[in-house]
Amino acid sequence: MDEKNITTKILVKSYNELKDVEKQLVDLAKEATQDSYSPYSHFQVGAAILLENGVMIKGCNQENAAFPVGICAERAAIFNAGANYPDVPITCIAVTAFTQGDFVEDPCSPCGVCRQAILEFETRSGKPIKVMLVGKSKIYVLDTVKDLLPLCFTEF
Ligand SMILES: [Zn+2]
Repeated sequence: MDEKNITTKILVKSYNELKDVEKQLVDLAKEATQDSYSPYSHFQVGAAILLENGVMIKGCNQENAAFPVGICAERAAIFNAGANYPDVPITCIAVTAFTQGDFVEDPCSPCGVCRQAILEFETRSGKPIKVMLVGKSKIYVLDTVKDLLPLCFTEF
């Protein structure tokens, strides 16, 4: 019998340790939470992505009375990028959430569906997408979406 271990490197940073462009991306993700339509969960998620050409795109969760119809902030943002900048790689994504009048204390992480969706953008471009999971006082930084989805499903 063999055993395999999977490890994930996560840098834990403060806002002030980020580069200026990363701070702008975090700010945009926070701004996006305020446009969330989340009357059912009251959990306002914001995402912001940075494209290789410098363009930033925000997204926020959009819920619906028929629950499966809604979409997460991360996919709202990346599908926007896919529609408007189909050939421009995504270099970074920031995600955060606002609930009960404040930003979440612990870094907010994408659901499994969004991890799979973001991963395919990374696979398509062949370039890693840095992930910033933003909490109130700490930010988890991962070098690639693959670190969020070990043993991921991809085309073979
Ligand atoms: Zn999601």
